[in-house]
Amino acid sequence: PKYVYRFSEGDKDQKDLLGGKGANLAEMTKLGLPVPPGFTITTDACRAYLASGAVPDELSVQVTKAMREVEEELGRQLGAAHDPLLVSVRSGAKFSMPGMMETVLNIGLNDVSVKGLATASGDERFAWDSYRRLIQMFGKTVLDIDGDHFSDALEAKKADRGVSMDYEIPVEALQELVEEYKAIVKEHAGLDFPQDPRAQLDMATEAVFRSWNTERAHIYRRREKIPHDLGTAVNVCTMVFGNMGQNSGTGVCFTRDPSTGRPGVYGDYLVNAQGEDVVAGIRNTLSLADLEELDKTSYDELRTAMRRLETHYRDLCDIEFTIERGKLWLLQTRVGKRTAAAAFRVATQLVDERLITMDEALTRVTGDQLTQLMFPQFGQSGDRDLLTRAMPASPGAAVGHIAFNNEEATSRAAAGESVILVRRETNPDDLPGMVAAAGVLTARGGKTSHAAVVARGMGKTCVCGADQLEVDAVAKTVRVAGREEVLTSDSVIAIDGQTGEVFLGEVPVVDSPVMTYLRSGLEAALTAATDDDTRELVAAVDRLMQHADERRRLRVRANADTPEDARNAISRGAEGIGLCRTEHMFLGERKQFVQNLILAGSDAEREAALAALLPLQKGDFVSMFETMDGKPMTVRLIDPPLHEFLPDLTELSVQVAVDRERGQLDPADEELLAVVRRSHEANPMLGLRGVRLLLTMPGLIELQVRAIAEAAVERLKAGGDPRPEIMIPLIGSVRELQIARERAEKVLAEVGKESGLELDFPIGCMIELPRAAVTSAHVAEEADFFSFGTNDLTQTTWGFSRDDVEASFVGHYVDEAIFGSSPFESIDVDGVGGMVRLGVEGGRRTKPGMKMGVCGEHGGDPDSISFFHQVGLTYVSCSPFRVPVARLEAGRAAL
Ligand code: ADP
Ligand code: MG
Ligand code: MG
Repeated sequence: PKYVYRFSEGDKDQKDLLGGKGANLAEMTKLGLPVPPGFTITTDACRAYLASGAVPDELSVQVTKAMREVEEELGRQLGAAHDPLLVSVRSGAKFSMPGMMETVLNIGLNDVSVKGLATASGDERFAWDSYRRLIQMFGKTVLDIDGDHFSDALEAKKADRGVSMDYEIPVEALQELVEEYKAIVKEHAGLDFPQDPRAQLDMATEAVFRSWNTERAHIYRRREKIPHDLGTAVNVCTMVFGNMGQNSGTGVCFTRDPSTGRPGVYGDYLVNAQGEDVVAGIRNTLSLADLEELDKTSYDELRTAMRRLETHYRDLCDIEFTIERGKLWLLQTRVGKRTAAAAFRVATQLVDERLITMDEALTRVTGDQLTQLMFPQFGQSGDRDLLTRAMPASPGAAVGHIAFNNEEATSRAAAGESVILVRRETNPDDLPGMVAAAGVLTARGGKTSHAAVVARGMGKTCVCGADQLEVDAVAKTVRVAGREEVLTSDSVIAIDGQTGEVFLGEVPVVDSPVMTYLRSGLEAALTAATDDDTRELVAAVDRLMQHADERRRLRVRANADTPEDARNAISRGAEGIGLCRTEHMFLGERKQFVQNLILAGSDAEREAALAALLPLQKGDFVSMFETMDGKPMTVRLIDPPLHEFLPDLTELSVQVAVDRERGQLDPADEELLAVVRRSHEANPMLGLRGVRLLLTMPGLIELQVRAIAEAAVERLKAGGDPRPEIMIPLIGSVRELQIARERAEKVLAEVGKESGLELDFPIGCMIELPRAAVTSAHVAEEADFFSFGTNDLTQTTWGFSRDDVEASFVGHYVDEAIFGSSPFESIDVDGVGGMVRLGVEGGRRTKPGMKMGVCGEHGGDPDSISFFHQVGLTYVSCSPFRVPVARLEAGRAAL
C-alpha cells in the first residue's frame, strides 16, 4: 500500500488518510502558499504499526524515497555535515486533538551537523540551541524521560550564567547543556542519544504512532467521542526557524476572533522563538499589530494568506506560522475551533459576506453550542471582590474552590464539589483536571495557549494569562499582586470567561443574553444588551433559529406537568406538550386520598376517595388547558406503581414495631403495613404500573378521564380551545389498550352527554416495551397516536434498569466501546432505534400518516434528534429548557 504522500500530492478532503494536519498542509501546498516541503505518513501505516507492533517494511522504503525527493528539491541532505536539512516529525489525526500528541523538532542534528548548521546559518548560538531542544524533545517524547530532568538542567544553567531568558544563554553554556542532556538520556533511557539522522526520524515516527494510545489521548477521545481506532498520521516537514534572531519569530493567528467571533484578524506572535513556545504560553506574546510594526512585509503576506485561506475554506481558520529571517512560512491551518458565541456570529457573518448560504450556516452551529449560550452568567449587581482581570479565553461563569492539580480536581469534583483548576500554565498532562473542573484559570499564556485552546474545545469556562497571580502548585497557594491574603484550596473564586474577571468568593449568576432572547424575544434581548458583541450574537441566534424553524419537519413539544413549565416551554417555542405526567396529581395532601383508595374495604369507601380526588385533578387540568390553549397536550394517565404513594416499607415496619413495643399500636397502621408489604415488588420497574395498574384498580381510568373531560368542558364553555390527547402508558398488548380505550371512551361519552358537547379526544399509547414495538401494526388499530418512551424502551430493550447500571457499568461499557456513549444520553440507533423503527413502520402500515412522537430524555439530545427525523416521527418532546436546542437540531436534521 501507499503509505507516504508528498504534501504536493494530497488535499484537504483526505483527512481520513492524511489526518487533519497533513490534509491541510497538502491543501495549502496546492494553493501555492509557502509551506516547507515534506510528506505525510498515512493513518493506514499507523494502524498497521499498532496492529503488528512493527513498522511495515514498505513504509521504510517509501520514507527513504520521499525524503530523497525533498532533499533533491532543496539541494540539502538530512543531517548532513554541511548545511544540514532538518525536519520536524508531527502527529496529526483526523480530528484535531490539541496538544494530545507530541511533535519533535530539529530532527537531523547531531554532534557533526550542529557545526554544519552553525556555519550555514552563521549563528552558532542558534545551532546549539536547536540541538539542545532536539535532545530535550526527543528525550521526553520519544524516549519517555521525565521532562523535568531537562528543564531543571536548563534552569540551573540559566541561574549559573545569571540570565533569565532562554535566548540569553551563551553558546558555551548551550554546548555544556547538550552534554548534560546527553548524559540525562544515557542515564534515564539507557542508550546514547542517536546520532544517525534516519534513526532519529524512524524513532520519532514510531513514537508518534505509539502516542495514539497514551492515556491522555484516550481521555480526550472519550470526551470528544472520537473513535479509538482511527490512528494518527505523521507529518515530516522541513524545518524553518523562528529562533534565528530578532527578524525571526513564530506565531498563531485566527482569521476572526475565536472567542467572541468579532470580525478582524487575531493572533499572538513571539520574536526569536521556535515551535511550541507560543502555544505553551511560556512567554507573554505580541499581537499581530505589533508584528505589522516589526516586519510589514511578512505581516502583509500573512494577511493575504489568511484572507486566501478563509475564502478557500469559507470559514474561520487558524494558522500556525513562522518567520525565518524575514521570510514567512505557513506550518499549519485548520478550520478553527471557536466558542459557541463565535460559531453563531461567524456563521451569519459569512452569510452576509456571501461566502456561505443560510443552510450552510445552520450546519456550522450545533445544539450543544446553543446549550452553552443558555448557561447563566455573573450578575453585574452586588458586591464583587475583583482579584484581577485577565484574558477571557472560553466563556461561561464558573464558581468553585481552588484545585491545584489533577488529583485534587478529580477527587473533589467526584465528591460533588465545584472546583476551579488554577495553574501557572497547563500542558497536556493537566487534561484530567481540566475535564473535572468547572473552570480553568492560568497565570501565563494567551488566547492560543494550551489551556485556552483545550478549554474552548471542551466548552469549559477559562480565563488565562492572569499574570497578577503567583501560583505555587507545590505549596498550594496563590498570591495576588498588591493583596495581602493568600488563597488556598479552601478559597472560593469565581471566573468570568466573557470578561476575564476573577473574583474572590461566590458571585451570583443571572440569565445569559441568549436566554433572555429565548425567554422574552429579540426586542427584549436587544434592549437588554449592553454592547455590540452581544447585540450581534443575539441577532445571529435569532436568524439561525428562524431558519431552523423554517427548515425543520419535526415539530417540537415539551414535557411539562405544571402551568409554569408549560409557559416556559411555549416562550421557548414549544408547539405543544408531548408529555404531561399526572402522577404529581396524586401527591402532597392528596396522598391521603390515594391511600384511602388503596385501602378501601368497600365500593362506597373507594368511591368516596375517588370523589375527593376528582375536583382537585380537574382543577389541575383546567389551568393546564388554559395555559396550553389551542395547542395539543398529551396527558399520560398514571404510570408509576401505587406503592410509590404509600409509606416506605422499612420505615413503616420500624414504626409499627416500636409502637407495638410501647403498647401504642394503631390498628390502622398495622393494616396499612400489611398492604404495603403485599404491594412491595422486587422489580417495580417491571411491576404493577402503567396500564396494568389502570386496568386492575377500579375507577382509576374513570377518575382521570373524567377530570380531563370535565376540565375540557369548563374551558370550552369559557370559550377556550383545550386539546387533550389521552395517552396510556406501558402497553404491551393491543388488548390492554382496547380495554383501557373502551373505558375511557365511555367516560368521554358520559361527560359529553352531561354537557351537551362532543368530546372527541384522541386516545393513544406509549410504545416503550419491545412487545408493543414488535406488534405495533396491531396496537395501531386501537391507537390514534403513538409516543415512543425511549427511556423505558432503552431499559426494556437492553434489559437493564437505568438507576442500577449508570453507576455500575455504563462507564466501563463506554470504555470498552460496547456503547458509543451512554444509551440513556443518546439513543442506541441500532437496537433501541431499531425498535422505534419497527414501531413506526408497523403503526403507519395500519394507519398511514399516524401521529407519532417521542418523549423522554432523547427528545432533547442533539445526536438522537437527527435519528428521529430520519425515522419519520412527527414530533420530539423534551424538557422546556431543551426546546430551543431541539428546534435547532431538528432544522439541521432536515438539511
Ligand atoms: P500541534 O499539533 O501540537 O500544533 P505541531 O505539529 O503543529 O503540533 O507542532 C508544534 C509546533 O512546532 C508548532 O508551533 C509548529 O509551528 C512548530 N513546528 C512544527 N513543524 C515545524 C517546522 N517544520 N519548522 C518550524 N516549526 C515547526
Ligand atoms: Mg500545530
Ligand atoms: Mg415510561
